[in-house]
Amino acid sequence: MSISAKPASPPQASPIQPVELALDSVFQFRCHKDIACFNACCRNIDLQLTSYDILRLKNCLGLTSSEFVGRYTIPFEMDAHGMPGLKMATKPGTSECIHLTEEGCGVYEDRPAACRYYALGNMAVRKKGSGEVEDAYFVVREEYCLGHEETHEQTVAEYRVEQGLDKYDEMNSHWRRLILKKRSAGPAVGSPSERSLQLFDMCSYDLDSFREFIQSPKFKEVVELPPEQEQELIDNEESLLEFAMRFLEQVLFGVNSVKVRPDAREKRIKERQEVWDQRRQQQITKHQENLQKQQYGN
Ligand code: SF4
Ligand code: SF4
Repeated sequence: MSISAKPASPPQASPIQPVELALDSVFQFRCHKDIACFNACCRNIDLQLTSYDILRLKNCLGLTSSEFVGRYTIPFEMDAHGMPGLKMATKPGTSECIHLTEEGCGVYEDRPAACRYYALGNMAVRKKGSGEVEDAYFVVREEYCLGHEETHEQTVAEYRVEQGLDKYDEMNSHWRRLILKKRSAGPAVGSPSERSLQLFDMCSYDLDSFREFIQSPKFKEVVELPPEQEQELIDNEESLLEFAMRFLEQVLFGVNSVKVRPDAREKRIKERQEVWDQRRQQQITKHQENLQKQQYGN
């Protein structure tokens, strides 16, 4: 699953170098303000955003998550089942990033993970024969990027530190695992319901709504959340994102890590039973009315 290839490339001309790099692999590259191609990569983007990217960017711009998503992203479907994804918006009629200014990146301190990785590509791959997910790195070499001509060399690990990637990868890892898990499961778990897609959307891209959701009576009816944990989630968005991923995993894959009230399941079954009984009674009444009409001819 690639989530880090920033620039768009013409089909059949992949700029990804077919050599897998490890953390201690050395590669030659340097990007700096005085390079002739400065910001060329931001003028031709196809940039998928992660859940943590949205958190950082909306705070950087002083917006709510839904305001940020509405103004600065383009929705797309990540797979055939309609898993919602978001891409960074571009300036009208161009493929230039909406945050690119005369001076450079307008959100540099909070730029997305894909921008930090470039000119490396990062893929989460599942090891053959085991469920383990590991990172693989590749050099992405676009023709217009002159950084590859620079003599500076560094290891992948050094580049990651320089770009502040540890924090991004840590915060995005659960989200990425969930997407990979959904993809690997394929048709085995069937198509996700509309409700689970909406939940994925809210947990991934709309933390402000998720914060409201965990305070709602409906949520509290089902989930047992001690007051101090609730307050921590309200105050700390990183904790909230981490909790959102655990909640999502529980709903989508039944991995129990969020405490559900002991009576919640029985209550839900009882509610469903009541709805079912009502429907059944309506059907019986309708059937009896029809029989009467047939019998008496009106
Ligand atoms: S060197 Fe490459 S990454 Fe740096 S500005 Fe130029 S095109 Fe972008
Ligand atoms: S967010 Fe910044 S670094 Fe990333 S593509 Fe846009 S302008 Fe370039």
